[in-house]
Amino acid sequence: MGKITGFLEFDRQEQKYQLAADRVRHFREFTLPLDEHDLAKQAARCMDCGIPFCHGPTGCPVHNQIPDWNDLVFQSDWEEAIRNLHSTNNFPEFTGRVCPAPCEEACTLNLENQPVAIKTIEQAIADRAWNMGWVKPEPSATQTGKRVAIVGSGAAGMAAAQQLARVGHEVHVFEREPKAGGLLRYGIPDFKMEKRHIDRRVKQMEAEGVQFHYKVNVGVDKPVDELTAEFDAVLFAGGAEEPRNPQLPGQELDGVHYAMPYLVQSNRRVGAEPMPGNGELPIIAASKNVVVIGGGDTASDCVGTAFRQGALSVTQLDIRPRPPEREDKLTVWPYWPTKMRTSSSQAEGAEREFQAATLGLEGDRKGRLTGVLCARVDEKRQPIAGTEFVLPADLVFMAIGFASPLHKGMVADSGVSLDKRGNVLANEEDYRTSHPKIYSAGDMRRGQSLIVWAIREGRQAARSIDEDLMGESVLPR
Ligand SMILES: Cc1cc2nc3c(=O)[nH]c(=O)nc-3n(C[C@H](O)[C@H](O)[C@H](O)COP(=O)(O)OP(=O)(O)OC[C@H]3O[C@@H](n4cnc5c(N)ncnc54)[C@H](O)[C@@H]3O)c2cc1C
Ligand code: SF4
Repeated sequence: MGKITGFLEFDRQEQKYQLAADRVRHFREFTLPLDEHDLAKQAARCMDCGIPFCHGPTGCPVHNQIPDWNDLVFQSDWEEAIRNLHSTNNFPEFTGRVCPAPCEEACTLNLENQPVAIKTIEQAIADRAWNMGWVKPEPSATQTGKRVAIVGSGAAGMAAAQQLARVGHEVHVFEREPKAGGLLRYGIPDFKMEKRHIDRRVKQMEAEGVQFHYKVNVGVDKPVDELTAEFDAVLFAGGAEEPRNPQLPGQELDGVHYAMPYLVQSNRRVGAEPMPGNGELPIIAASKNVVVIGGGDTASDCVGTAFRQGALSVTQLDIRPRPPEREDKLTVWPYWPTKMRTSSSQAEGAEREFQAATLGLEGDRKGRLTGVLCARVDEKRQPIAGTEFVLPADLVFMAIGFASPLHKGMVADSGVSLDKRGNVLANEEDYRTSHPKIYSAGDMRRGQSLIVWAIREGRQAARSIDEDLMGESVLPR
């Protein structure tokens, strides 16, 4: 523990943001990092609790050893801090940017609403390590002669690939898109995480021996049978891409879209990638009244993207009641609480409607969207008669989550069993599917989740594969 009285002396301080009026003019990251002196003070606030809930089961899913690296930052031993952080997390610069930080909710200092700024410190350790040139390829000194195929280069596939290559397996990643990263690249916008962070990890992994094969849609361009014949083990890490369909009257109107095509297009545009020539028209929010249906991360990313494209107004509809500003600590701590949260995108000027159900979408005679018919809902989420209202809209994004992985293609072709929700069936112990050579991890197994959970599952599935191939494994679980 760095400073015994640190938490009494220093207030919580996170990295700040550029002003909303400035940051909506560009798509770049907009956080303003703390300097080394302030970071040391923040790290000094860690109390090194007897039971550090932050890295226990209710906190960080990859079990980052938070009190240890807080102490190392306080001691200015940044090189040891990144070594420690990398021992549990392959990509701390990803989680330091986009993780919702369940660790901070579980921090003992959060009982006083002043948790240690864990996520800010994690990002600072990772960024400094890259800037100092401490992050280097770590190729295996020996080769096992075993070959592993990984389908999907999202956070789960990347974490698994890195772990498996580092213990000497020949790892091939098959990815449908032209570049690696999954939702980190094509879902999450640059203003939350710039893609250069993925590109340099891909370079590191290539130097560690991982071979990436882009534009290969497994189950369509390459049958699953070919993979199971060519490789000793196959990991399905294809994400959960099937959007939940709200089945609204008027969904076919011109101007109504699922969130993902919109975000994918914007990410491609920002990344100067060519648009696929499938006849898809550009979706741009400039000079439009935009309504986003849904209250999660995907919805927020549509909000921030629409503002950056010059939307006239952005309104977000959430069917849930407005949550309390503060949770009752004694009933929920150290678990993730329901409370009023405002994302940086919402803070850029979104109108938020709570307890609002979408009854349908209205259009003109030419089939163009004109508005969204809504109503307030009761505690059972049923519309209350007489509370209907119409929001004028030129663009609607449906962002109410994802139901399951895509079944057509790889999943159907492989014949693996599915769970009740339609995800690939595999447990969290060995990640084996019903096919003896196929494993599954990340959103494809777990259902839509978080980057940090995908990293955890990729690491754990790698350990299981390594154990099955070699009879034992030095990889951590
Ligand atoms: C818009 C949006 C914003 C989000 N924001 C956050 C956030 O801020 N913080 C957070 O923690 N989480 C966030 N999430 C959730 C997070 O992105 C996911 O939980 C995480 O990306 C899952 O990782 P994954 O590797 O399992 O799958 P994915 O990232 O979905 O990657 C799957 C990859 O598999 C590829 N693939 C699929 N099928 C095939 C096939 N047959 N052949 C070849 N390749 C295939 C896909 O192209 C994709 O690259 C967000 C999700 C969305 C949609
Ligand atoms: S990965 Fe997420 S939960 Fe874990 S320490 Fe980082 S911010 Fe906290």
